Amino acid sequence: MTNESVPEREPYLRAMIDPPGGNPFPQRHLLGIEGLPPEQIQYLLDVAEGYAAAQRSRQFRPKLRGLTQINLFFEASTRTLMSFEIAGKRLGMDTVSFSVDTSSIKKGETLLDTAQTLNAMRPDVLVVRHGRSGAVSLLAQKMNCAVINAGDGQHEHPTQALLDALTIRRRKGRIHGLTIAICGDILHSRVARSNIHLLSAMGARVRVVAPPTLLPYECMRLGAEVFTNMEDGLKGCDVVMMLRLQKERMQGAFLPSEREFFHFYGLTEDKLKPAKPDVLVMHPGPMNRGVEIATSVADNLQHSAIEEQVEMGVAVRMGCLDVLTRHLHDQTEADQ
Ligand code: ASP
Repeated sequence: MTNESVPEREPYLRAMIDPPGGNPFPQRHLLGIEGLPPEQIQYLLDVAEGYAAAQRSRQFRPKLRGLTQINLFFEASTRTLMSFEIAGKRLGMDTVSFSVDTSSIKKGETLLDTAQTLNAMRPDVLVVRHGRSGAVSLLAQKMNCAVINAGDGQHEHPTQALLDALTIRRRKGRIHGLTIAICGDILHSRVARSNIHLLSAMGARVRVVAPPTLLPYECMRLGAEVFTNMEDGLKGCDVVMMLRLQKERMQGAFLPSEREFFHFYGLTEDKLKPAKPDVLVMHPGPMNRGVEIATSVADNLQHSAIEEQVEMGVAVRMGCLDVLTRHLHDQTEADQ
């Protein structure tokens, strides 16, 4: 990270990035947010902030040239896969992406055999999305390179939580002390889980708002306040984060109908009224307009940060690729 790419308006970042001595992110992989100390989260956000500025000024330095990144996606993805690929390319990496449809998994290969095969190709970073919770950390045990979890079942999606946090920090100037409501299908959402961990660790007051059938028991244990109606849940909120109904993970009927869900839980201008006047509206995508969010709210640029979330997605992923390969490129840079 060059200090030149740090925006002038954030002088404190200069001290945060590349602090003298020690490794500010001593993790081999990024498998989840749970358990990460706040200072390590802060460090990832600070590095990503620098990349956000570099993106806006179109100043990319191929500092990871010669390193190989494999994106292995067992589940559909638009934003996450594309942004990891763009992030790697902007850093000069050789990126290869493949999805389950074109791989040997369809021919009966086990996850661990796939891991061993990929490991033999000696990648420097493996980015994995898988439908089963825990599959990515299982795979990481077999790999000699850094592994990044791009979403495992309903467990965690750490880079999504980081990009959400970066967006909030840029728009609100802080995370600490904010009241943030996460609404919708909490039960099946890895985005909700990673965000609850991250936002609580950074000192926000986290609320979850959902019908009782879509609330996991663990919410209270994770430190979130639980609400089952939007009016109470959104009162005085600084940020409202909406989630999609994750039908692909639902076994059985959790709701009478989508129409009824929209009536009680879909975010409309009216339901947003109890929140603060400058409330920020977020959504990780893909959005289902007219189900969890009304078009008039999603497209209202006064409140909506949805596009900025996508932009920050690339910056955060550049930051994660950089930080997790630092031992490799620091060496390369020293050799030159
Ligand atoms: N894109 C997010 C995820 O992969 C949210 C979603 O799919 O609704 O978890």
